[in-house]
Amino acid sequence: EVVVNRIAAGEIIQRPANALKELLENSLDAKSTVIQVTVKSGGLKLLQIQDNGTGIRREDMAIVCERFTTSKLTSFEDLTNIATFGFRGEALASMSHVAHLTIQTKTAKEKCAYKASYEDGKLKAPPKPCAGNQGTIITIEDLFYNMPQRKQALKSPNEEFQRISNVMSKYAIHNSKVGFTLKRYGEQPSIKTPPNSSQQTNIEILYGASIAKELLPVELKDDVHKFQMKGYITKVNYSSKKAITLFFINHRLVEVSSLKTALDNVYSTYLPRGMHPFAYISLEINPSNIDVNVHPTKHEVHFLYEDEIVEKIKQTLEAQLLGSNE
Ligand code: ADP
Ligand code: MG
Repeated sequence: EVVVNRIAAGEIIQRPANALKELLENSLDAKSTVIQVTVKSGGLKLLQIQDNGTGIRREDMAIVCERFTTSKLTSFEDLTNIATFGFRGEALASMSHVAHLTIQTKTAKEKCAYKASYEDGKLKAPPKPCAGNQGTIITIEDLFYNMPQRKQALKSPNEEFQRISNVMSKYAIHNSKVGFTLKRYGEQPSIKTPPNSSQQTNIEILYGASIAKELLPVELKDDVHKFQMKGYITKVNYSSKKAITLFFINHRLVEVSSLKTALDNVYSTYLPRGMHPFAYISLEINPSNIDVNVHPTKHEVHFLYEDEIVEKIKQTLEAQLLGSNE
C-alpha cells in the first residue's frame, strides 16, 4: 500500500515547482500577509515555506497529512466548487509520501509553537512544543528520495529553481497585498515584494520596467455567462520573443490553451511574427462551470461555455487594445 500511495503521490507532486504551488495556496488560504520561501538545489534538497497565517491547531497536527484531510470543505456545494481543481486535502499527504516533511506551526490561541515530522501520511512522533511565531513553517527535504526515476526525470537544479521562481512571481503578482520572498539557502533573496504592494508595482519588480511602462489594465464583467475578467496586458509597443502569460481562474494558477491562442490572435495584427505580449489575466467564473473531470495533475483547465467566454474576452482585449492605440 505504501508503494501505491507513493506512486499516486508522485502523480500529484511532479516536481518542486508544483509542490511549491500547493504550499503557496495553503499559506494564502491561511490568510498570510508575508510568505518566505527558501530553496536548496532547485527545491530537491530543501523547499521551505514560512508564513504568518492562522497556523494549524495542535489537535489537527496528527491528521493534516492524511489523505483527504482538509479544513476547507463545509458543505456539499463547497465540495463541488473545490473539486473543480481536482485534488483536495491531498497535497500535504502526497508530499509526506515522497519527501521528508516537517511542520512547525502556531495558532494565535496556542502559547507556543509545535513541531512534527511526517512519513507516509503519518506523524512520526507526537508534536513537540518549541518557540515560534504565529504561522506555519513547512519543510520539505529530499524530494523524491524514494523515487529515483522521478528524480532523474527532472531538469537541473537551476532549471527547477527557475520554475519555482516563475510560480512565485505569478502568485506575487496575483496576490500583490501579500509580501513574497524567495531565496536560495544562505543567499540574498532573488525575489522580494513588499506587503500591500500593487499588481503594477510587482510586475515592474518581477518582470521589469519595459513591461511595466506599457501596461494596459483590462476588465470585463459578463452577466450572460456570469464571469469576470481583470488583468494587465502590454500595449502594442512592447513585444518579446518570450511569451509571458499569467492565467488565474478563481485565484488558482492554470493553463488555458484556448485563451493563449485567442491572445496570440489578438496580437498577431500588431506584433511581428514570433513576438509576444505580456499578459496577466484573472478570471472569476462560476465554480460549478469548471470541468471537474480534468485530472488534477493537468494544469490545463476547461470550463463550461469556454468558447463563448474566450471569444468575449478576445473581443474585449481587442477593443481595449485598439482604444489604447488611438
Ligand atoms: P487542502 O489545502 O486541499 O485542504 P492540503 O493537503 O493542502 O489540503 O492541506 C491540508 C490541511 O492542512 C489544510 O486544509 C489546512 O487545514 C492545513 N494547512 C496546510 N498548510 C497550512 C498553512 N500554511 N497554514 C495553515 N493551515 C495549513
Ligand atoms: Mg492545499
